[in-house]
Amino acid sequence: MGKLKNHYLVHQEQTLSSPQLGELMDQSARVEAWCNRCGHYQMMDPEHLINSLGPRVRVPEIGVYMECESCSSKDIAARPAYPEHNHLMLMAAE
Ligand SMILES: [Zn+2]
Repeated sequence: MGKLKNHYLVHQEQTLSSPQLGELMDQSARVEAWCNRCGHYQMMDPEHLINSLGPRVRVPEIGVYMECESCSSKDIAARPAYPEHNHLMLMAAE
């Protein structure tokens, strides 16, 4: 069981580096993005982004194509949000 878990973690770290949108959708992950200027934060479905950008765009790059809803800045940061990670982050915050 321990070996299985290690394998899973290694696999996840590799995909964390810069996954494509299509890969995120396969993993039921989402994309979180925030504005570097005003801090506006948004969680998005990869499916929605694939419709406009295609499945092969890597997540850190999609910030280039986005614009902040609040301040119209184009200085957007994006990263994948895996369900497991959200859980870990919630636990760490408590
Ligand atoms: Zn903004």
